[in-house]
Amino acid sequence: MCMKIKTIRQRNLPLSEHYQVLSVRHGSVLDGVCTACDNCNKIISHIVTVQNRKGEQFQVGLDCAKTLTFSNYSQFSIKVYIFNQVVKFMQQAIKPTTEITLRNECVYAQWEVTRKDGGTDTHYASQFTSQLNEYMPDWRQKLSIHEGE
Ligand SMILES: [Zn+2]
Repeated sequence: MCMKIKTIRQRNLPLSEHYQVLSVRHGSVLDGVCTACDNCNKIISHIVTVQNRKGEQFQVGLDCAKTLTFSNYSQFSIKVYIFNQVVKFMQQAIKPTTEITLRNECVYAQWEVTRKDGGTDTHYASQFTSQLNEYMPDWRQKLSIHEGE
């Protein structure tokens, strides 16, 4: 990838407006769910819902959300941080060798990694179901879950 100088260009949504980020969600292009960005009209895989002061809501991609909310950036960056953690968790959790357990409003992932010396290490990760619901609503369909008691 080469470096690009980012020019902020106004597209469909006026930059003079103040936008609030309501949610960041992982869309599923592979599952055939396609959404076009309300700002630049590109097909987006990650859907950020923003709202202007009049209460109108728009669905935009991550790049456009960053541009539209630059005056309100910290709120957006916290959501993107959690979103990235959810995506990272799911990338491991959907592997067939990962064991998934649901317990106390948390999803626990456990998997083995073979060391160079031939031994195995067990790795763990967990994620709140509330965050999975918010950022990747179809997570339950993607995972084979053992319900814990
Ligand atoms: Zn866009």
